[in-house]
Amino acid sequence: MELELQRLGLPSDNERPFVIAGPCSAETEEQVMTTARQLAEKGCHMFRAGVWKPRTKPGGFEGNGEMALPWMKQVKEETGMLTATEVATPEHVELCLKYGIDILWVGARTTANPFAVQALADSLKGVDIPVFVKNPVNPDLELWIGALERINGAGIKRMAAIHRGFSSYDKKIYRNLPMWQIPIELKRRIPNIPLVCDPSHIGGRRDLIAPLCQQAMDLGMDGLIVESHCNPDKAWSDASQQVTPDILDYILSILVIRAETQTTENITALRKQIDEIDNNIIEVLAKRMRISREIGQYKKEHGMTILQTARYTEILDKRGAQGTLMGIDPECIKKIFEAIHEESVNQQMKVLNKA
Ligand code: PEP
Ligand code: MN
Repeated sequence: MELELQRLGLPSDNERPFVIAGPCSAETEEQVMTTARQLAEKGCHMFRAGVWKPRTKPGGFEGNGEMALPWMKQVKEETGMLTATEVATPEHVELCLKYGIDILWVGARTTANPFAVQALADSLKGVDIPVFVKNPVNPDLELWIGALERINGAGIKRMAAIHRGFSSYDKKIYRNLPMWQIPIELKRRIPNIPLVCDPSHIGGRRDLIAPLCQQAMDLGMDGLIVESHCNPDKAWSDASQQVTPDILDYILSILVIRAETQTTENITALRKQIDEIDNNIIEVLAKRMRISREIGQYKKEHGMTILQTARYTEILDKRGAQGTLMGIDPECIKKIFEAIHEESVNQQMKVLNKA
């Protein structure tokens, strides 16, 4: 199914990146207004704040609900910024329309649920409002496209996709893995959909916001949605990933925006994929070494020699054959696995020599 899209019609339509900024949650009138005033002073045109907060576990701050909507209205009246918030149910949509919210977004947990997305789509029939759809929490491109199609099918033509990373059990640097190949593939499948990066939820850490924004720009993404709070350390949700409007302004000022020529874009996108794959290789290698050390410990406790020749030969033979099947020269695979094996032996020697 082709999406029928129109330009977003937002004040910063011709800017790359267009930026939506604001706190994770609308906590108090004072926090909302102070943050909004500071952002407006920095030239920000669009203000975000969560009114209903989907929390993993009960007991956390779940948003102020309807009470926060007049604050959003006040932001718009006083600063002129457009306002954006997350909707997860038809009731949220109805309330946002009642209070004049300008942009709606569908959160990652909702995108993962076709029933909820369809209910939202039905409630949006006959309404003309920009709707941004975050990727689902799980790395499933079809689910993301499906949600975009459902909303578009309801007649919403001003749409964008937000890349906020994908949840994983094995958390390392990122709160949510970027898996850049997924938004890249989305853009290939739906070339006219504006793509917005959410570095706050990908990184989960303030210091990752700047590099993630730069990566998004290098991939040719159109916009950014960044969490910004007047007092980030005291935020009621997502404190570690919010920056002050001042810092956000600095982060945006140092972004390098490259020309969008096709060839540069393609090669940059491919290089990003290579970088990501190399990161994965290193992570997997580190995991392999960890297991090697555990084996080393076992051998030590059972008085076995580190080098088990039969096992080493088996590894080299098997991996060589696997390489051939996948179009890689077995000689190359052999060299790589010799190097890996050498390092594994080193790691096991260290375990053995430890008192
Ligand atoms: C948010 O933007 O604050 C949010 C809850 O995001 P996500 O749906 O990406 O987790
Ligand atoms: Mn958040």
